[in-house]
Amino acid sequence: MSRLDFTVNVDGYLASNKYEVDEENAHIELVEDPDPAEFDKLVMVCPAALYQRDEDGAPTFDYAGCLECGTCRILCGDTIIAKWANPGPTMGVSYRFG
Ligand code: SF4
Repeated sequence: MSRLDFTVNVDGYLASNKYEVDEENAHIELVEDPDPAEFDKLVMVCPAALYQRDEDGAPTFDYAGCLECGTCRILCGDTIIAKWANPGPTMGVSYRFG
C-alpha cells in the first residue's frame, strides 16, 4: 500500500476565503444550554473550529467564519441546532483557491 506523506496548512487555506458576515441575522443558532455531549461532537468536527470551549470549559460558538458545509446540521440538527439556514444573498463565505 502506498502512503501519502504531506502536510496541509488548513489555516492558510481558510485565511484566503472571504466572508460577508450578516451581523443582524445569524444563519446558525443553538438551543439555550446545549447538551454537552452533543456540543463536544461539534467541537471535534467543525472544519472551521467555530464550536469551542473556553478556558473554563464553557461552550462558545460564533457563526462568523462558517464554511457552510452543513456538518453541524447533519450531525446535531435535531438536538442542539435551533436554526440552520443558508446566509442571505451576498452574505457568507466566498471560497478562494490558489
Ligand atoms: S456549517 Fe460547517 S463550518 Fe459552519 S458551523 Fe457548521 S460545521 Fe462549522
